[in-house]
Amino acid sequence: MHSAAARREQDILALWDRAAGRARRQRDDALFTAAGAAPTDSIGAGNAALLILRTKLFGAPWQLRAACPACHTDCEFVADSAVLADGLAPPADAAPPRIALGDNELTLRVPALSDLAGLAAAPDRVAAAQSLLTRCLGDATPAALDQDALDRIEAELERCDPGAIVAFALDCPDCNHTWQAVIDIAPALWVEVQAAAERSLLEVDALAREYGWSEAEVLALPRARRAAYLQLVGAS
Ligand SMILES: [Zn+2]
Repeated sequence: MHSAAARREQDILALWDRAAGRARRQRDDALFTAAGAAPTDSIGAGNAALLILRTKLFGAPWQLRAACPACHTDCEFVADSAVLADGLAPPADAAPPRIALGDNELTLRVPALSDLAGLAAAPDRVAAAQSLLTRCLGDATPAALDQDALDRIEAELERCDPGAIVAFALDCPDCNHTWQAVIDIAPALWVEVQAAAERSLLEVDALAREYGWSEAEVLALPRARRAAYLQLVGAS
């Protein structure tokens, strides 16, 4: 019978197996799938699923960092991934996004996780917005969009799926600049998964070398005993 901590470690390693060494978009997909999000889910719902998975693996307090855009100081802050997850589901009563372009009023589909795949190849924000729009608007997509139209589309999509973009109001401790730091949930979770998995692998490596134990044997050691052995072999 494994302890809860041992099960979490196994889950983290299994997640790392599925995502390590892959391109950003495939890695994000692997994380969304592991979190139980469907390709048809909205991006906000996908982010909520990732945060629920994150809370299960690492607990609710979440150490994050963002560079101050004014002075580039690396600012650390703590979020609560459980509370955050609760606020990301799309509002149930949201009307479908509509946008007036010229004389036409067009209805869009809220982008889904599967729409993100097409964005990886876009060279810039305008191309990405155009590509997303083509997917969500289909044949009615205008050939070119001006900045005003792009801004309005972005605002309208944000109204319909506010959880697609997760931002934190931060104050820079160095220069007092205040700004909204946008955190991309999938890459931020991946940083954490990768760090935890690498720590586990280093521990397995140190004890396997010293005692000849298998990976499974090292991972099955109770936490305190593994830490004690690591100390004995000078690996912690
Ligand atoms: Zn600053």
